[in-house]
Amino acid sequence: FGRPWIFIRGVPSLKFLPPEGPLEVAFAGRSNVGKSSLINALVGHRGLARTSNTPGRTQELNYFVPEGYSGEGGDLPPMALVDMPGYGYAQAPKDQVDAWTKLVFDYLRGRATLKRVYVLIDSRHGIKKNDEEVLDLLDKAAVSYQIVLTKTDKIKEAGVPRLISETTEKIRKRPAAYPEIIATSSEKGKGLDELRHTIARTVGY
Ligand code: GDP
Repeated sequence: FGRPWIFIRGVPSLKFLPPEGPLEVAFAGRSNVGKSSLINALVGHRGLARTSNTPGRTQELNYFVPEGYSGEGGDLPPMALVDMPGYGYAQAPKDQVDAWTKLVFDYLRGRATLKRVYVLIDSRHGIKKNDEEVLDLLDKAAVSYQIVLTKTDKIKEAGVPRLISETTEKIRKRPAAYPEIIATSSEKGKGLDELRHTIARTVGY
């Protein structure tokens, strides 16, 4: 994470995926969970992932890699971050939800270089029904995932350990869930190093 990151491509359907090469980790979460803020904070680049996505915006998988790799002639980046489209817009029409599910499920099932999905959960809300549906999808696709709590600065500090244990209990029986929960606040810079370390371990650094 020591060098600048750049956006390389938005993927509206699977035929636009970059060729498999570097190991990748992806970020998923309900719209407004703080996903763009977290990705920006992780890589120390304010404008990398767009914040405050408008509902109904084109649903794409956005690829980010460290700067300086052409992707050609074996000059592959060490890893890639994939920002998955947000889910759970209250007004999303059914065909949009279906398109999301298809893109994401096809990607999850077919991507051998995808090492883990970080599923972001707003600390104020905990795991909601549409989060459960996404966890079901991940379990079905047998893709390793890990829960990241966001915006912990918005709840009482004493509530964080309790939220972690409640969330741990909720995912205990899920086959593809990594048991350790990471609590973060992009605003306060909390949990970011822990998240960077787990990502680095996941992709083998
Ligand atoms: P996304 O839709 O998941 O990409 O969410 P954004 O990153 O755009 O964040 C949604 C809203 O939550 C914005 O108003 C952010 O400023 C706010 N937000 C994001 N992260 C945090 C955080 O750690 N703490 C607080 N207090 N607000 C946050």
